[in-house]
Amino acid sequence: MRLTIAIALCTASLASAQTAPSTVAAPTAPAPEVGKPLPAWSRGMLDIHQISTGRGNSALFILPDGTTMLVDAGAAGDGTKMADAEQRPDASRTSGAWIVHYIERAMAPTHAHLDYAVLTHFHADHMGQVTPTSLPSKTGAFKLTGITEVGERIAIDTIIDRGTSYLPPPDDETMKNYRAFLAEQAAAGRKTESLKPGRADQIVLRHAAKEFASFEVRNVAANGIVWTGVGNDTRSIFPPLDSIATDDRPSENMCSLGLRIRYGRFDYFTGGDMPGVPDAGAPDWQSVETAVARAIGPTDVHVVNHHGSIDPASAIFLATLQSPVMILPAWSATHPSQDSLKRMLTKRLYPGVHDVFVTTLREPAKASIGSRVEQLKAQHGHIVVRVEPGGGKFRVFVLDDTTSEAKVVSVHGPYTSH
Ligand SMILES: [Zn+2]
Repeated sequence: MRLTIAIALCTASLASAQTAPSTVAAPTAPAPEVGKPLPAWSRGMLDIHQISTGRGNSALFILPDGTTMLVDAGAAGDGTKMADAEQRPDASRTSGAWIVHYIERAMAPTHAHLDYAVLTHFHADHMGQVTPTSLPSKTGAFKLTGITEVGERIAIDTIIDRGTSYLPPPDDETMKNYRAFLAEQAAAGRKTESLKPGRADQIVLRHAAKEFASFEVRNVAANGIVWTGVGNDTRSIFPPLDSIATDDRPSENMCSLGLRIRYGRFDYFTGGDMPGVPDAGAPDWQSVETAVARAIGPTDVHVVNHHGSIDPASAIFLATLQSPVMILPAWSATHPSQDSLKRMLTKRLYPGVHDVFVTTLREPAKASIGSRVEQLKAQHGHIVVRVEPGGGKFRVFVLDDTTSEAKVVSVHGPYTSH
């Protein structure tokens, strides 16, 4: 049976609770305090930052040995539509530049560097978007937006995306731009790879894997090829593309890749915009969440798929994962939908804690959600999951996303990993 604890901690008790297991030599970290910057990551911790930009998804991971990874670098729209207005912290920089700023602050005083950057799929709110105002790179070979802007400013050793061997990606300026960026990365000796579903040896600790043997990044899904939960085995849940009626063809969202990160008893899942509730009359295989849930089982923290929009967060997905903590990366007025949020919060699917943290809840979304909004643990902010050395416990910090300093707004936990 899963045991979870969610207690609002005063800062004094946080300090005493932050003790590393004897096998890990972690320095004593200062206690996080509301109103102050979050103390820096230290060796043995797993930090996961869901960065609030108001323009899409981006999450920074600092793994227990200091290996670093970015999942997505969204920068949707040019700010002219209501759905993509209100950047965070503000419109003085592009979203890509704010992501760079966030990474540099989180990694200070170390020089910012990314061992991995992963794109869940090829949409603007996950990779960026070329607009008339996009600036050129130093060489002029591509425009700066989202992932290409991050890569221009911070060295990325390995870029991993879903690949293009199944569903062709969008044929647009942004994809052409991304390809030009990849070509420059490859010419500079950096790696560009497609995710290999089922494997746990593609994204690895780069510095001290043996010291943190309970840590693993498992590739759960991409393009409808889903890990079975046994060994490295996978199965394909989508029929061959040429056998599917045009209306039923998988969408870019359905092809999103998904990762499970495990550290001791702690499990986390992120899966881009994969759906769980097919459109009325659509085939059942379009519920990618169902196959993913079967593979990964109970989870401590998951990123809500497709921004909590109308088609993710199926009952079977939620009831199988039983996550006490859900991170909802929202940016549009339609995130989350009333129905999805209702499913996330109901105790009919699983008992215990259901803490939902939203990165950017728009006023129209708030109005449509109604009184359920009061059950959210955060309506805006950078959401940081900090897992203690060994993975036994974790806390969630909400950081202020309205200024560049990102001071701590609230502290949640400790939660006990399942
Ligand atoms: Zn999206």
